[in-house]
Amino acid sequence: MKAQSKQVSEMKKVEKIVAPPPRHWVGDGFNVHGFFPHGPLTGHRMSPFFLLDYNALENFPPREEPFGVGPHPHRGFETVTIAYKGKVEHHDSRGGGGIIGEGDVQWMTAGSGLLHKEFHEQEYNREGGPFQMVQLWVNLPAKDKMTDPKYQAITNAEMGRVPLENGGEVEIIAGEFGGVSGPATTFTPVHLYNLKPKAGEKIELKFPSGYTTALLAVEGSAKINGETILPLNNLALLEREGESFTVEALEDGIFLLMSGEPLNEPIAQYGPFLMNTNLEIAEALDDYRQGKFGYLD
Ligand code: MN
Repeated sequence: MKAQSKQVSEMKKVEKIVAPPPRHWVGDGFNVHGFFPHGPLTGHRMSPFFLLDYNALENFPPREEPFGVGPHPHRGFETVTIAYKGKVEHHDSRGGGGIIGEGDVQWMTAGSGLLHKEFHEQEYNREGGPFQMVQLWVNLPAKDKMTDPKYQAITNAEMGRVPLENGGEVEIIAGEFGGVSGPATTFTPVHLYNLKPKAGEKIELKFPSGYTTALLAVEGSAKINGETILPLNNLALLEREGESFTVEALEDGIFLLMSGEPLNEPIAQYGPFLMNTNLEIAEALDDYRQGKFGYLD
C-alpha cells in the first residue's frame, strides 16, 4: 500500500461569480447594483461586510437641482464610500462631512448614530459627466456599535501603495498588503485594496483561512487562480476556506478587494439600522423619532 501524502490545499477557491443584479435608485443620485445582501450573499455570509452598492460607470447629465439622497439616519456600522469617477459630498447632523473626490474614500463610522445626506458635489452636479462609485457597509462588533460617530477622509495620495512588476500597483485603503499598511483604522480585521494591475500582471493574495473575501471588477476583467474569468462589473466571491489566490488582469484594470474576519454575531437590520437584536432596532427607531440622532436640513 502506497503511503498517501497528506496534502492540505491552501488555495482559496472561487465560490461564485456574481453578475451585477438589476439596478435600483438610492435617492435620485445613485443608480446601483446591490450585490449584497442579496440572494445567497447574506449579511452572515458576507460578514464583517453587510452591504455593497455599486454605481457602475455611467454619465449623469448636467443639472441645477442636486442629485442625491436627503437626510437619513444610520446606527451600528460604518459606511465606506469609494469614488472612482465623479465627486460626492456628505453632510451630517454633527457638522461633519466633506467632499469625496475621484480616487478618494470616506470611511464613516455611524456608531451610535447620526443623520447624514449624500449628494453629488455641486460643481460636478452642474457639469455632469462620468460617475462611478461604491458604498460598502462594514458591520461593527456588538461592543462597538454605540461608539461615537467619526469620519476618516482618505485622499488617494494618503493610501498605502505597493508597486507591481509591470507598472501596476496596489492601493491599500485598510489593512496590509506586501508589508504596507493602509491609513483607515478598523474595529475588526479588514483589508480593503484597489488592485490596479496592468494587462497580464498577476497579483498573489493571501488572507487567513476563514476570512470573507470578495473582489469587484471596477475596470477591466481578470482571471482568478488561472482559470475563472471575472468579467467587468461582476463580483467574485472566494471560499472562506483556503488562504492564497491569484488575480491576473486580462487588460489594465481596477479590482476592489475586500477581505475580513467574520463577526459571528446575530444580525438585526431595519433599513439604515444594523444591530444585533430586534430590541436594539426598536430602540434605534425610538431614538430617531425622539430626535436623538440630531437635526439636518
Ligand atoms: Mn447613508
